Amino acid sequence: SRTPLTLLGTGAMGTALARAWLAAGHRVTVWNRTPARAEALSAEGAVVAASAAEAVAASRLVVACLLDDASVGAALEDADLTGRDLVNLTTGTPEEGRSRAAWAEARGARFLDGGIMAVPPMIGDAESGGYVFYSGSGALFDEHRDTLAVPAGTRYVGEDPGFAALHDVALLSAMSGLFAGVTHAFALIRREDIAPKDFAPLLASWLTAMTPSVHLTAERLESGDYTEGVVSNLAMQSAGNATLLRTAGEQGVSAELLTPYMDLMARRVADGHGDEDGAGMVDLLTREAPKD
Ligand code: NDP
Repeated sequence: SRTPLTLLGTGAMGTALARAWLAAGHRVTVWNRTPARAEALSAEGAVVAASAAEAVAASRLVVACLLDDASVGAALEDADLTGRDLVNLTTGTPEEGRSRAAWAEARGARFLDGGIMAVPPMIGDAESGGYVFYSGSGALFDEHRDTLAVPAGTRYVGEDPGFAALHDVALLSAMSGLFAGVTHAFALIRREDIAPKDFAPLLASWLTAMTPSVHLTAERLESGDYTEGVVSNLAMQSAGNATLLRTAGEQGVSAELLTPYMDLMARRVADGHGDEDGAGMVDLLTREAPKD
């Protein structure tokens, strides 16, 4: 029979998660700070608990999907976590994941942190490609692997409870740079007689063609050789940036999304590394913010 579980937080994501587990035949006990937001799930078969403590008492497996780490602490303040398996799907930082793990373990629970790489409509849709990074108790993950796989794919990334958040945030950070570039590109064509809908497929296929470069960067970081077989060296790229900036000027577009990356590139070239490609910039960044 399917593992019963408790879900704390029926916001947009929590509601999607609850629906996926209900549809798969799990008994789901839910709690939400604002009770009205859990009512729809009651009609769909969820048991609505009157307090977080009562919800935690209802099942050994407890999943939290709240706004932020502080709301997890607030919600679970009065709950007895002894013998519970707490899975925290609330987005947080690596340090928050680690301290929340220590906090849960001190209260007698096993702990698994999760970072959701999906939006609510992707939850419960096996074709969507959505998944969740997990890290922390491997024993918890192994025991509940099938249950956790119901709403989305699972990728366990290690015992360090900070690693799920680190993977999650690293991917989101890369996406932030990608979206910055896309925003700038659409701004460049904005005032011209070029339909965004005609331009979009060109943009998408160019970004797709550039994506495999992440594997080359990884190889360079592992070998420590940043110059072997470089096809577009930093000196050339940095000089080419002047064309990008002049074009932004001609089109009346602010270059504010581009200049931080270009400045870093120029600094790497000035440091005498113009024969490298982008991998050495990773060193430049991490040297500026060393891990203490
Ligand atoms: P919502 O804003 O829809 O829901 C937030 C939930 O947190 C609500 O249940 C809210 O309760 C609760 N909450 C907020 N503050 C507190 C508190 N102090 N004490 C107790 N409960 C509190 O957000 P989502 O459901 O979309 O997101 C939930 C988590 O999922 C977040 O960490 C988010 O980063 C993550 N996530 C969301 C994605 C998305 O696309 N939506 C994608 C990937 C991850 P109340 O109803 O009472 O306000």
